[in-house]
Amino acid sequence: MAGTTDQRIPKQRSEASFKDFKPAYNALQATAEANRCLYCEDAPCITACPTGINIPEFIRKISTENVRGSAKTIFDSNILGMSCARVCPVEVLCVGACVFNHMERPPIQIGKLQRYSTDKAYDEGWQFYEAGPDTGKSVALVGGGPASLACAHELRRLGHACTIYDKREVLGGLNTYGVAPYKMKSDRADEEVEWLLGIGGIELQKSTTVGYEGDGCDITWAELEAKYDAVFIGIGLGDDRFLDVPGGDLDGVHGGVDFIECMKLGHVDLSQFESATVIGGGNTALDCVRALKGLNIPNVTMIYRGSEARMSGYQHEWKAAKVEGAQAVWHAQPIAYLGEEGKVQSVHCARLGADKKPVPDADFTVPAQLVLLAIGQGKLGELVGGLEGVETEWGVVKVDADQATGRKGYWAGGDCANGGKEVVNAVAEGRDAARAIDTYLKGE
Ligand code: SF4
Repeated sequence: MAGTTDQRIPKQRSEASFKDFKPAYNALQATAEANRCLYCEDAPCITACPTGINIPEFIRKISTENVRGSAKTIFDSNILGMSCARVCPVEVLCVGACVFNHMERPPIQIGKLQRYSTDKAYDEGWQFYEAGPDTGKSVALVGGGPASLACAHELRRLGHACTIYDKREVLGGLNTYGVAPYKMKSDRADEEVEWLLGIGGIELQKSTTVGYEGDGCDITWAELEAKYDAVFIGIGLGDDRFLDVPGGDLDGVHGGVDFIECMKLGHVDLSQFESATVIGGGNTALDCVRALKGLNIPNVTMIYRGSEARMSGYQHEWKAAKVEGAQAVWHAQPIAYLGEEGKVQSVHCARLGADKKPVPDADFTVPAQLVLLAIGQGKLGELVGGLEGVETEWGVVKVDADQATGRKGYWAGGDCANGGKEVVNAVAEGRDAARAIDTYLKGE
């Protein structure tokens, strides 16, 4: 099947009740904000963007009412510019680098301007790209997330045939099933996949697993290698990690990423829940905390073994979570989940001292009818461990500056190769891999 995802995003989804946390600009607001930009020559905002979008150029085009040109400038560098405008942590990337931060004036709202232009492109149905002349070469892309999508689109522009293999029925990777709903909903991510496939000629093999002879997979790496001229690995991360503490099998103890997916692609009924905890202090933990508050659970508590100042999640997200009523317990570690009639009711915690060791006689419990684990995801490097030359380190696929693995004809990008970064990093890596694959296929 080519050219359409035929996705199955259900209409009744828990995420549907969430509102955008950054409402869109109208034309007047966008023009006014664009007119504030200084169009800096050595613009630090460009350097701060992993895809290197020419930010002053796209903003200048908004100010001259050339929104179509503005959108094209964005997509030329980042074909997933629509979703990145919503999900990028701009506060620590482009907006955080804007020169206005040093002038005690509000930085330019680059993300909102990018959203203005790219949304307009989608609304108007603008398509800027077409496939290049057929080169007769073909590439298999394993995984259907942002890295593979960006890689496939770039490869099509360069004229190479592409086939995306994804183990899921729904394409888009984390953009579709893992982004917190107040940033972007799954149907919007789905729309992006459709728009991107509009270039034509990207074959899809959905619900298809890739593996080794005898492991029950649908197609083996060896078969891919025989069929295609190059392979891109964009398999993302694995399942949620869990703590090895008593009570882990109680109803109500779930992985954080798994929970977000359930509420994005289906319905979760939490109407009877009074309390929930999220274990962890990273960005997934914060997404879970804010999602639970958005689902109207009165008491949501984050439990983290470190301090507020040193949590790995973004401070701006935590500040927003606090405004929404979330609480946190710092320097604490779960030692058991306690339940009644098979259902979790609370988390029994140890208080940690400065040496990260439990403080004697300082245990306490936090009420929790739902416990979400957001302490990281497994790495999928072992899935490629049988491929001679593809090296992994702590489960992360090792690549060079061109995203090439140690095996001839194999490239990798996105979370499986960077250990878990932002969507915008995956896009940059997929795009750069495509350019390196193009050079390789041309025999240069
Ligand atoms: Fe505009 Fe700020 Fe970028 Fe300068 S750093 S070009 S003012 S957005």
